[in-house]
Amino acid sequence: MQPVLKSAKLANVCYDIRGPVLARAKQMEEDGQRIIKLNIGNPAPFGFIAPEEIIQDIIHNLPAASGYTDSKGLFAARKAIMHYTQVKKIVGVQVDDIIIGNGVSELITMSMNALLDSGDEVLVPAPDYPLWTAAVSLSGGTPRHYLCDEGAGWLPDIADIRGKITPNTRAIVVINPNNPTGALYPDDLLREIIQVAREHQLIIYADEIYDKVLYDGNTHTSIASLAEDVLMITFNGLSKNYRAAGFRAGWLVISGEKHHARDYIEGLNMLASMRLCANVPAQYGIQTALGGYQSINDLVLPTGRLGRQRDLAWQLLTQIPGVTCHKPQAAMYLFPRLDPKMYPIANDQHFILDLLEQEKVLLVQGSGFNWPTTDHFRVVFLPNADDLTEAIGRIARFLDHYKKR
Ligand code: PLP
Repeated sequence: MQPVLKSAKLANVCYDIRGPVLARAKQMEEDGQRIIKLNIGNPAPFGFIAPEEIIQDIIHNLPAASGYTDSKGLFAARKAIMHYTQVKKIVGVQVDDIIIGNGVSELITMSMNALLDSGDEVLVPAPDYPLWTAAVSLSGGTPRHYLCDEGAGWLPDIADIRGKITPNTRAIVVINPNNPTGALYPDDLLREIIQVAREHQLIIYADEIYDKVLYDGNTHTSIASLAEDVLMITFNGLSKNYRAAGFRAGWLVISGEKHHARDYIEGLNMLASMRLCANVPAQYGIQTALGGYQSINDLVLPTGRLGRQRDLAWQLLTQIPGVTCHKPQAAMYLFPRLDPKMYPIANDQHFILDLLEQEKVLLVQGSGFNWPTTDHFRVVFLPNADDLTEAIGRIARFLDHYKKR
């Protein structure tokens, strides 16, 4: 029999957050070992439960939720999202400019599929949330990574962005607040990105799924609120701000220069129709989530659980010799750097696998976020303080042995 091969479209698609190291961790768990997992930004298993009012609303509406909705989503949910765009000062958004999806993930893939032809290029940050790179590749496009500069608090390097634009560049992806770095971008920088997009007629894809997970009293500006003459697609959802990742509810909002994009928008609508509609029970939670009590604001305070865990994880990690880390301003991740002189790592996946085998701590290697060198890893600070302390203690012990090898 001929072997059944996967599609060549998958050749450049990678998603290491759920890759081979996770497979090994699962195997170890099946063998009865306890692994401390600092690898996935999934709040609920760590006790960050979705607000009760959202759950109750979904339960209450379950009988009504057994049919398909409009392929763009429930009208009332899209109205609530439309209201949220007004709160975020994004002008001119109509209900029809909003598509609800099975999480932002589905919409990222959909938005790239609707846009790209072979040879088209999309500017994607490095490091990135790797679904963006994967979705560009899977859609037949070519991801071109622009640098986020660790020395500048992980802010995008505008000169690097400009240097990577070619006649084939169609769009730029901006992940703000950022996964994996926790960076939050100032308005001036957002305006510079808009200027680049304006000059080169690029679409801006703004992934803002962490826009309420903000520390130190920070506020978030939607890039789409800063210009009306550039086409912007803004993504958000319930997974992080409302700790409801399993419900699979996300949305995209089309704003700015829509008139020249009628054909593209038609393509997006067609893809939305082809999958009929997003998960309906979860759509019923959107209005309550956006209009209800914003309990995330309590969690991110210095005294809140997320705020405390961010401080703890950052302090413990940066006490390890040769480890430096920009303190996250937002989201739920740290992206520390290992001094390559002290820790000469040839292959960061092997490094993370060795850590797993020896210390039973699960992380994701920097290259899993399309970071070009082998000197970073990502830490999720969702586990409780005891687990974080234990896990980072084990990382410190592992590194101590590593440098003496
Ligand atoms: N975008 C970013 C930056 C993320 O970190 C994640 C999930 O971790 C997603 C999108 C996907 O979110 P969803 O659960 O809405 O599919």
